[in-house]
Amino acid sequence: MSDDTAQRCCRILEHLREPVIALDLAGFLTGWSKGAQALFGYTAEEAIGRHVLFLNADERDERDGGGRGAPAGDMLEAGSPALEVTRRKKSGEVFRAVLSLSAIHDGDRTVALLAQFSEVPERFEAEEKLRLHARIIEDSDQGILIADAGERIVSVNPAFTRITGYAAEEAVGQTPDLLRSGVHDADFRARVHAAMRGGAPWHGEIVGKRKNGELFPQSVSIGVARDEAGRITHSFSIFSDISVLRETEERMRRLVNCDSLTGLPNRTLLNQLVGQALIAARRTNDHGALLAIDLNRFAAINDSLGHEVGDELLRQVGQRLRETLRDEDVLARTGGDEFVVALLDIGQREHSGIVAQNLLAAIQPPFVIETHALHVSANIGISVYPDDALDTASLLRFADVALKRAQEVGAGGYLFYSPEMNRRAKERWRVEGELRHALVARELRLYYQPKVSLRNGRIVGSEALIRWLHPERGLVPPGSFIPIAEETGVILDMGNWVIEEACRQIRAWINSGAAMPPVAVNLSARQFDGQLPERVRATLERYGVSPDRLKLEITESLLVRGPEKVIPIMNELVAMGLGLSLDDFGTGYSSLAYLKKFPITTLKIDRAFVIGVPGEENDCAIARAIVTMGQQLRQEIVAEGVETSAQMTFLRDLGCDQLQGYLFSPPVPAAEFESMVREKRRLGLDP
Ligand code: C2E
Ligand code: MG
Ligand code: MG
Repeated sequence: MSDDTAQRCCRILEHLREPVIALDLAGFLTGWSKGAQALFGYTAEEAIGRHVLFLNADERDERDGGGRGAPAGDMLEAGSPALEVTRRKKSGEVFRAVLSLSAIHDGDRTVALLAQFSEVPERFEAEEKLRLHARIIEDSDQGILIADAGERIVSVNPAFTRITGYAAEEAVGQTPDLLRSGVHDADFRARVHAAMRGGAPWHGEIVGKRKNGELFPQSVSIGVARDEAGRITHSFSIFSDISVLRETEERMRRLVNCDSLTGLPNRTLLNQLVGQALIAARRTNDHGALLAIDLNRFAAINDSLGHEVGDELLRQVGQRLRETLRDEDVLARTGGDEFVVALLDIGQREHSGIVAQNLLAAIQPPFVIETHALHVSANIGISVYPDDALDTASLLRFADVALKRAQEVGAGGYLFYSPEMNRRAKERWRVEGELRHALVARELRLYYQPKVSLRNGRIVGSEALIRWLHPERGLVPPGSFIPIAEETGVILDMGNWVIEEACRQIRAWINSGAAMPPVAVNLSARQFDGQLPERVRATLERYGVSPDRLKLEITESLLVRGPEKVIPIMNELVAMGLGLSLDDFGTGYSSLAYLKKFPITTLKIDRAFVIGVPGEENDCAIARAIVTMGQQLRQEIVAEGVETSAQMTFLRDLGCDQLQGYLFSPPVPAAEFESMVREKRRLGLDP
């Protein structure tokens, strides 16, 4: 072909819509059609003159034709003009194409080659896809099982073997029932089977069985594959082993729902279980009961023997309670030493009382922990569904109200809730709120009652007694609010206020030049803790009051905190220079043994015995015994509640040191008490 012919050829080519290119025998491009431009993205100017190799996807493609000289020529001679090749577009995209070569002859001589491309993306992708899919199935973490239309397993992947323990050879030919655990009902299995037979695809959790017999939860998707005619050819199941997930969930559930110390359900789970049971009970008209249990003196055991002993005790108590109950009863630990039993199905109210008795009896034998044999008692409050309430929260609250009442009544018993208790409890909450308000609103006052010396009739001391100046109810005596303050803990703030107020008053008297006798304040057992001495010292210091101006009246009730704890605190207070009086003596333990250990300076004979003297033989005997005891221990003796001169005479003859009572003066406001002292009144001693 002359150059002329060649050039003409190329011009014709230019307009062809098919992707056709022309090249010389050395492989350099001489023609480039519009179609070629469309396919490869290069313009004729960009392409013509370059070696055809620049269209190849990579160097290896040199072999597949269109290469430099020889291969193309060889192929033409071998009579195989069409072949599949990989090429690269200007955009970089690689594609497969069928390449047809034809030679242009000039006489016998081949002068040029024409190459026509037709893109074959489809078939290539399908093959690659198949390879890719196979690889994904092989490498997948998920177990895959493929069954034929007859539900025979035809293929499984390595993950299937890893999860189930069955090798491919063992699984193939079997039905998917190979993994059947037997835990699902017929209904459930029917739904799964329907999906395998071409129903809607199914996704869910199935419990499977491994080759070693172990059951395992799996998350499964089931579907089918169909041929062109829509017939099901295969079903498949893709699953993952979620036992680790389930175990984690279970651990989380236990953490959220169980008490870690005893392993018993906690309050959260209790609420849930009772809630569910109540829904059921509403349908069946059943009765249920909640028993709130609180151990007595647990805090003391914990404090004195240590937390390990305390923890072990709680574990053992939990165990004994659990053993007393039936399987369907719920036992929860809801707080430090609080347990709740839910009897979800009792025939009648009274049955829960029997259970309460059994529970109390179960913890009666001592608990042996380390070297200790610990005696524990408890109180139980019971609320009953549907008699007392219909919802969990109210039932729990009422059981608690009954428990509090049982604790007040005495150790070791149980009580059923009653509306009366609720009224009391509500009253208590109301008063608690009012008391807190009273503290802030400065409605509290201290009144002072003189203590009179029997030697000279002089006022030698006073007792500060709290009063509540209620805006509506007027002057409220402490008997009606101190017990509630103690129960609710308000007594701590209130007690601090009393010490503060007494010190402030003493300072005011000092500043006004009045020579006032020491003031005694009453302390509640709850105030008597390790920080008390420091608190008192700080207050005394703040008002510049010397400790011998202040006395503290305590009662034997603080012995419940344990003598080994309270005696060091007493010693500390005495070492600071404060006098300690033992109030209400004769009504508590009144044990000589303790009396000898207590660093007490003063004994106060309780009014209960003073009332009976000199008429009641018994009271006289007790008063005499107390005075004798006090004298031997060199303690000062004060009799309180003295109302008559007959009482006074009797007590003076017994050898009492001081008297206090209405005979001389009731408790009065500070100013009145001050003028009483200033006038040096000899109160009622001699007519
Ligand atoms: P208490 O410490 O034994 O106080 C003596 C009580 O007997 C006072 O009652 C007093 O007013 C009363 N009393 C005095 N002389 C007579 C009398 O001749 N006849 C009769 N019938 N009663 C007399 P009050 O003030 O009602 O206090 C009652 C109790 O409240 C006190 O008994 C004390 O245990 C407690 N209390 C009072 N103030 C405080 C306080 O500031 N803190 C604490 N923790 N308890 C306090
Ligand atoms: Mg007192
Ligand atoms: Mg008293």
